[in-house]
Amino acid sequence: MPGGRCGRVVRLMALLALVSLTGCKSGFSPSQCDEVDVEVSPPPLGKRTMARLEDAPRTNRQRETLVYEYFRASGCPDIQRERIRHSVFHNFICTLPGRSAERILVGAHYDKTGRGRGVADNWSGIVLISQMIRDFTGGDREHTLQIIAFGKEEPGMIGSDAFLHQDGGKNVIAFVNLDTLGIGNLRADARSDPELLCLASAISRRLDVTMAVKYLAPITGDWKPFHDADIAFINFHSLDRTTLRLLHSPRDRLEMLDDERLAGAWRISAALVMNLGGITLRK
Ligand SMILES: [Zn+2]
Repeated sequence: MPGGRCGRVVRLMALLALVSLTGCKSGFSPSQCDEVDVEVSPPPLGKRTMARLEDAPRTNRQRETLVYEYFRASGCPDIQRERIRHSVFHNFICTLPGRSAERILVGAHYDKTGRGRGVADNWSGIVLISQMIRDFTGGDREHTLQIIAFGKEEPGMIGSDAFLHQDGGKNVIAFVNLDTLGIGNLRADARSDPELLCLASAISRRLDVTMAVKYLAPITGDWKPFHDADIAFINFHSLDRTTLRLLHSPRDRLEMLDDERLAGAWRISAALVMNLGGITLRK
């Protein structure tokens, strides 16, 4: 998740004690939402998923190799390896066909920057999308589900931009982005699509998992090309003014992640994808 000016502004403002900030702003209120009917029975966060956090490789080459291995080991029947133009790295796209050609996309970036291990940012997202492949492969799906591991996010969303350029975004109902989870309470970016925020909020209430809707501008991520292409997206993260300092630092390591918070992120994001995709699990 590339950072930006707001992070510095937030820190400066915190220093000056002008305001107590937990984010730049949030224009969203669940009271604006219509009543929505949600199914909430996500599968549990797996032990294998948690163990994979310890794997987080130190180089982007190793991360790319391992993410492909995760997708393969999770039983994806169709993995597309897409070269990112002007780079040696690839995006990996796992397609799980549904009864309709309409698509739900779920993404997380695998690359890291800085001296830390990049466990929160963003091996956390990678392990969760890998479990989605495992759990949703055998299920019944109304819509086609595509789970994507993006490369080259940190230099400026180059992988997700290349994907969208190639793909065109036709028939995409929603894009769900997971980036930097488990180091704080779950947050949905307030710039996300209002209907998706309403759905996620309804799910968080039903599951009794805390989820704030906050706006940390201009912290950005792989949702940005989708936003610019006018595709409905929701971005999940766990950043506030404290956890923001861990990003791209040597402190982004396994010990900073909290099992319960990661489980909360898993339950809400998995339940959301199940609702959007009309996914029922095999008994
Ligand atoms: Zn990130």
